[in-house]
Amino acid sequence: MTDLAVLSVASECWPLVKTGGLADVVGALPAAVAPHGIAMTRFIPGYPAVMRALGRKRTVHKYASLLGSPARILAATHDGRPILVLDAPAYYEREGGPYADAMGRDWFDNGLRFAALARAAADIAAGRAGLKRFDVLHAHDWQAGLAPAYLVYGEDALTRPASVMTIHNMAFQGYFGADFFARLELPRAAWSIDGVEYHGGVGMLKAGVKLADAITTVSPGYAQEIKKPEFGMGLEGLIVGREDRLSGIVNGIDTQAWNPATDAALAGNFTADTLDMRAANKRELERAFGLEPGDGPLFTVISRLTWQKGMDVLIEVLDHLVGLGGRLALLGTGDAAIEAGLHAAAGRHPGRIGIRIGYDEQLAHLLQGGGDAILIPSRFEPCGLTQLYGLAYGCVPVVARTGGLGDTVIDANFAALAAGAATGIQFSPINYEGLSDAITRTVRLFDDAAAWRRVQRSGMAADFSWAQSGHDYAALYRRLKGAS
Ligand code: ADP
Repeated sequence: MTDLAVLSVASECWPLVKTGGLADVVGALPAAVAPHGIAMTRFIPGYPAVMRALGRKRTVHKYASLLGSPARILAATHDGRPILVLDAPAYYEREGGPYADAMGRDWFDNGLRFAALARAAADIAAGRAGLKRFDVLHAHDWQAGLAPAYLVYGEDALTRPASVMTIHNMAFQGYFGADFFARLELPRAAWSIDGVEYHGGVGMLKAGVKLADAITTVSPGYAQEIKKPEFGMGLEGLIVGREDRLSGIVNGIDTQAWNPATDAALAGNFTADTLDMRAANKRELERAFGLEPGDGPLFTVISRLTWQKGMDVLIEVLDHLVGLGGRLALLGTGDAAIEAGLHAAAGRHPGRIGIRIGYDEQLAHLLQGGGDAILIPSRFEPCGLTQLYGLAYGCVPVVARTGGLGDTVIDANFAALAAGAATGIQFSPINYEGLSDAITRTVRLFDDAAAWRRVQRSGMAADFSWAQSGHDYAALYRRLKGAS
């Protein structure tokens, strides 16, 4: 099998820079597709943290002006695999997050920052930036959405690489005003409904969805949902029009970083045969979250604290959860109003509800290793990773029936329990009734220790490694290469 070269462009890549699941996927993909003869190179912005973390870097291309500012493309190695970085101080050399300043305000020039990334990605993929041409350009989310456009409207459009646009979350589309078009250095023809124009402005994700040769989302369920207005968020018509190009590939998890038998973040390592060892992690969580010790059900949440994640609904059901004898340990950051609601609930239930505001990778591992059930009441969830980590760690996922959550968790209904197939609890609708009922069902199941163990073990036996997804992405790249 000949090697196929794929350039994967994104605004995040674990462990260099991460705000969510996108980073995990971009970080894990190269190793996932390598066994299938795919040589993948990642391309990300040179944020200060990235520049610091990467060792020796070699300049492969210099721009006197990349959409108005000087920039360089640097090559380095990370995790033993090639990575390219866009070193453009005017765009990225600032302290704060990848998208917002320390106060959480979006950077005023986000459009330009990521248009520059997309432009450089197209140059690299097409062989215009000092490196060999790539076979496929894989663009992730709106930040990379213009990359397929720069290929289609490039001077070598006829011999261009194929492109894939992956939607990790339809809620973030990268929409900018009409004036912005002039900054993009695209030909006039791109300003059309068949190009980058969207409702009188520039739609970066829209451009990718319209112009890429293939579109993927991160679960088959979400691929279906985004054809509907509630989930398509304005792009549903375009998605339906291009559904022959659309597929859903579920994310895998990094089974080395997330292995309860070897995880250094745990107080006690365990396997499906030694689940009693989880107790050490539960004790550690009780200490870390200031909870009363006990053997009753300990629910966990690891989440962005947003409307998407259903965190407002969670706040409504906390009295019910505590009333049933449950406790909650929650780790997250996000909306101030949701944080306030959580703190208020913790104040009403000292020792029963513990809240940690912040981002803490180690604590996330401990929560999966010591919690009994992880609550994920998302209103929509393109794939979701925390339910997959929960399955791998025997922390039973209690999930909204949507997107990737519905695709990856088998509800503990009567038949699934009888067949020994159940791996968690699913519920809908996503409101007080739905979630409180799911919590009641979870507590009842927990009280049946033998049934609970079976559900934990079934989850741990499920395969959510990258093996299948790596195979599916590789097959997609090969189909595109064959067609181009
Ligand atoms: P999304 O990308 O929409 O936020 P996912 O479930 O796909 O949701 O991915 C979330 C990822 O971020 C998981 O790896 C999860 O463990 C991690 N995560 C989310 N919030 C926190 C936090 N406060 N601390 C540590 N890890 C977190």
